[in-house]
Amino acid sequence: MPYANQPTVQISQIEANSTVLFDEFISHRIGLIPLTSDDVVDRMQYSRDCTCEDFCPDCSVEFTMDVKCQDDVTRHVTSADLISSNPKIVPVTSRNKEEGSEYDDTDDILIVKLRKGQEVKVKAFARKGFAKEHANTTQITLYATQHTPNLRNDQAPFDPTGFPNKYFYNVESCGSMKPENIVFSALARLKEKLSNLQTQLSHEIQSDAEE
Ligand SMILES: [Zn+2]
Repeated sequence: MPYANQPTVQISQIEANSTVLFDEFISHRIGLIPLTSDDVVDRMQYSRDCTCEDFCPDCSVEFTMDVKCQDDVTRHVTSADLISSNPKIVPVTSRNKEEGSEYDDTDDILIVKLRKGQEVKVKAFARKGFAKEHANTTQITLYATQHTPNLRNDQAPFDPTGFPNKYFYNVESCGSMKPENIVFSALARLKEKLSNLQTQLSHEIQSDAEE
C-alpha cells in the first residue's frame, strides 16, 4: 500500500540534548513513532502543496518534548512525552486506552534513557507523506497476498499453471489507521493519480492535434 497517507514527525529543532544519544539518533527514533491519523489525514495538506513558507496548521502538527531527569532513578523518555498540538494526531501509544480495546495493553515507545542531570528538549512537526516517499510513513506492518489456485485446499500441491483470478489480501496496521482505511486511502490516491495522468494525456493529445 505505498500510496496510503500518514503524517510522521520530523524534528525541526533540538534545543537541548545532553543524553548519550546524538541529535540525529533521537530524530530518527522520533520519526519512526506511528501517529494516529484516521479521520484527519485526508484534511491535511501536503507541505509541498501548501502556500505557507515553512509549517502551518494546514500542513503540519507541532510536537514538543521537554524532559529533564532530576532524580537518581533513570528516567525513560517515551512516546508519552511527545506532546501534540492536535489531540487527533498523537503517538498511537498515547491514544485513549479504554479497557478491553485492542490498544489497552500497548506500551509507550522508548526513545532514550536519562540519568540525573541529563535533558532533552525538542520541537518537531509532523507532515503528511506516503511510504513511496519514505519508509517511515508506512502504516503496514504485515502485508500478504494469496491467489485462489493456492486456496482450493490447504493440502493441495501448488499448481504453477493455475490462473489467478481472485486475490486475498492480509493487511496488518501499525495502529495509525484501521486496515480498511489504509486500503481505501491507497485506492483513492491511486485513482487520483490515474485520473491526473488521463487529464494530462488528453491535454497533450489535444495540443499535439492543434499544432
Ligand atoms: Zn502550510
